[in-house]
Amino acid sequence: MYNALMKKFLIKNCALLLKQGDITKEKVDAIVNAANSMLAGGGGVDGAIHEAGGPMIEEECRKIREMQGGCPAGEAVITPGGKLLAKYVIHTVGPVWQGGNAGEEELLRSSYRNSLLLAVKSGLYFVSLPSISTGSYGYPVDQAARVALTEVTGFLNKVRPYKLRQVSFVLFSEDILNIYRTVLEDIVVRSNFQP
Ligand code: ADP
Repeated sequence: MYNALMKKFLIKNCALLLKQGDITKEKVDAIVNAANSMLAGGGGVDGAIHEAGGPMIEEECRKIREMQGGCPAGEAVITPGGKLLAKYVIHTVGPVWQGGNAGEEELLRSSYRNSLLLAVKSGLYFVSLPSISTGSYGYPVDQAARVALTEVTGFLNKVRPYKLRQVSFVLFSEDILNIYRTVLEDIVVRSNFQP
């Protein structure tokens, strides 16, 4: 079911939402961070999450780095949310755009898939996602939106027991939100999507 007014899309029992906002303000079980492979914090959404969440996130990232040497592109790890309203942060590393022929699409798919898998394994209900790789990593937003939305709708549509009740894309600008909206409407129309 697709509610055009609310821009809310129901897949099984899970609502998929697109909205404009600052992901650090989300009061959900987990927000997803577009991290770097050293889990070292940085600019963009990563910097904003570390700044709002405080030193606990950095400390937990340091422990993960010591245990497994960081997080390769396409994979995801989870830490507590520190001072954030979100209980957890799922840190995933998207691909750096290199023109499109270096496996970027599959890596971006993996980032979304592994983030949601970690949310499911952790028994979470409400998760918010940013537009991974579309800032300093340079992935063209229209292409990234298609990858993100086909992967997330595909994931939620697969028969598996999960507690997820709401997955929101929290997009930083109206321009990015409009691109995601157009792509989602296109996916819904083209696939004759059956919730
Ligand atoms: P990457 O390195 O994966 O490209 P960036 O953080 O540079 O990550 O950008 C990813 C996306 O996150 C961009 O669309 C950017 O506009 C957006 N962004 C930046 N800050 C925030 C925020 N506080 N909340 C939500 N999205 C944000």
